[in-house]
Amino acid sequence: MMTSNCVFCRIVAGMESCYKLYEDEGVMAFLDINPAVEGHTLVVPKKHVESLEEMDVEDFVSLCRGIKEVLNVLIPKLGADGYNLILNKGRVAGQEISHLHFHIFPRKKADGGIFTPKRIDLGEVYRKIIGP
Ligand code: AMP
Repeated sequence: MMTSNCVFCRIVAGMESCYKLYEDEGVMAFLDINPAVEGHTLVVPKKHVESLEEMDVEDFVSLCRGIKEVLNVLIPKLGADGYNLILNKGRVAGQEISHLHFHIFPRKKADGGIFTPKRIDLGEVYRKIIGP
């Protein structure tokens, strides 16, 4: 069920813009608007859920498949050496947006770490991954 006060539901519905990297029937991935590293990406289920616990197993499998599809493109295109895959659940864990999402942080040596926001041109990163 789409909730109009959820920014990720609005992105999924096409009501809000994003740098979309991947989409299938149940999953969407787009660049994080406030990237911690180059190519910081969010992978979300299209259906609004707040936690893994409330998600159907089939939907979780689809989400994992989407994450793999994104990783297969994102990491080689950016020439990353590795990545962090993180899900924050609950305010205490740093969750700001209630719509469940995985963060992918492509990692390079000396990238400054994932806990300090960087000034990164999202359009430039998008073109590196997807093309002009
Ligand atoms: P979390 O703290 O795990 O809930 O992460 C939420 C993430 O969503 C943050 O890294 C934000 O920068 C990101 N974010 C918020 N609004 C948008 C948006 N409109 N487009 C892309 N990313 C967003």
